[in-house]
Amino acid sequence: MPLKDILDANARFVARTPPEKLPDQPRKHLAIVTCMDFRLTGFVDRALGIERADAFLIRNAGNTATALDNSALRSVVAACMNFDIRELLVIGHTRCAMKIDAMTALEKMRAAGIPRDALGGHDLREWLGLITDERENVRRVVNEMAASRLLPKRVAIHGFVIDVDTGVLSHITSWEPGAEPVKSVAPAPPTTQPPPPTAPPPRTPVPPPVRRDAAERRPPQTFKPREGERLGW
Ligand SMILES: [Zn+2]
Repeated sequence: MPLKDILDANARFVARTPPEKLPDQPRKHLAIVTCMDFRLTGFVDRALGIERADAFLIRNAGNTATALDNSALRSVVAACMNFDIRELLVIGHTRCAMKIDAMTALEKMRAAGIPRDALGGHDLREWLGLITDERENVRRVVNEMAASRLLPKRVAIHGFVIDVDTGVLSHITSWEPGAEPVKSVAPAPPTTQPPPPTAPPPRTPVPPPVRRDAAERRPPQTFKPREGERLGW
């Protein structure tokens, strides 16, 4: 986006947006940790009915907190220290770009011209905060936040995964003040079970051979499966 376009958009915004008297506290007493993914921009808050000044929105790659990067926790602690935060939401999302294996990440780094030794000897997976599963990552971050002595125990913590395409929010886990340890309330994701073995369908009787000249005269047939018949490849 060219600089001129940014400045023009800002001028139009200021011209049509009167100054607003904002509250001293986030209206919903809420902090949200979510991914920085561009598809969530202007989406994740709207999907939750969150408006300006309702909540803190803390974003990083993979909505995660690692041993090397606890900036998400730091921001939540800062919000709780300065404001009356009563709930914390950790929101992962489907198709998160941080769900890649270390080798793929390494290749992407190399393609972007980032030298391996720029990590200063850190493990790539650890440094980047790669995740293996969006749901498990949310569960882990909620557990870590709930276990942290830095977070006031008045704060309830809820973990979700949002569908980046539809906005559907799936509840993964929750921790309520006074509860110990972290409880998991989400059922396991449905697994795709192979269908039970069934008896093979009766063989279709082989029609008697037709004479070539008769077959050539036959009009072309449209294949229609019989009712209840399954098609397989
Ligand atoms: Zn993401």
